[in-house]
Amino acid sequence: MRVVRTIADLRALLRPLREQGHRIGFVPTMGFLHEGHGALIRQSAARCDVTVVSIFVNPTQFGPGEDLATYPRDLERDQNLCLDAGATVLFLPEVGEIYPTAFQTHIEPGRMAETLCGAYRPGHFRGVATVVAKFFSIVQPDLAFFGQKDFQQTAVIRRMARDLNLPVDVVVVPTIRDTDGLALSSRNTYLDPETRSRALGLSKGLQAAKAAFDAGERSTVALLDIARAPMASADSIQYLDLVDAQTLEPLEGQVNRTVALCVAAFLGTTRLIDNIMLTPPAGAL
Ligand code: AMP
Repeated sequence: MRVVRTIADLRALLRPLREQGHRIGFVPTMGFLHEGHGALIRQSAARCDVTVVSIFVNPTQFGPGEDLATYPRDLERDQNLCLDAGATVLFLPEVGEIYPTAFQTHIEPGRMAETLCGAYRPGHFRGVATVVAKFFSIVQPDLAFFGQKDFQQTAVIRRMARDLNLPVDVVVVPTIRDTDGLALSSRNTYLDPETRSRALGLSKGLQAAKAAFDAGERSTVALLDIARAPMASADSIQYLDLVDAQTLEPLEGQVNRTVALCVAAFLGTTRLIDNIMLTPPAGAL
């Protein structure tokens, strides 16, 4: 696995590979990697000849008062996980490499970036879209892999790739969970055993709503109530919404198409997100 720190070196490394017809996969991350990231890298390694993993804690997607300064880091462990999972190139740019002093151009996502997390983290998806567009331009991947765990992010990136005709296939990989259901997240490291056990209410609530949905419940109010009950173990729920899986518009009344049930909640000062898809069986609409 090659470790590269500059855009020039990465381009020089990838150009001949691309010219030889190698398929390039890309997995953008912020590091402190876990098996969720591992699943993305493994899928890229299975489908592509070259897998580029980036580790970059992107300052423009953090708001004031968020955890940019304290975001967890462990480069040695990350390198081992990347190698194990089949990465061929690890890209580790400094902030100044991605945002040089004169930098001033951003990608402005539309309505999709204003609901769910976007309503509480103004500018977050502008920062995400901008850095991902830059990485797409630097790496020029054939396929790029993102986790379902960050459902709204996958929707915003997919929309951006379509709207800007970016020549990349966006692949979404299912959420990897601990055996007890907690969605893996770098931020889980902030949880002590007590808050971690209360965090399980989130996945339990999502699962309960899915079980009710699978048993035929279609009322959005009822499904939200079922999900909310176990989530009372969190200190506060920032949002719990049922949204159209394509447009992210909130859904009212009856569920009559594929929807995402999305939650953001605080456990102490740690903010966690999770989601589950509810898909009516084919022919049952
Ligand atoms: P992050 O390092 O948190 O920015 O995440 C980098 C990528 O890994 C994003 O596409 C995330 O959606 C994905 N990811 C994070 N956690 C998980 C998980 N538990 N399962 C699957 N993908 C994940």
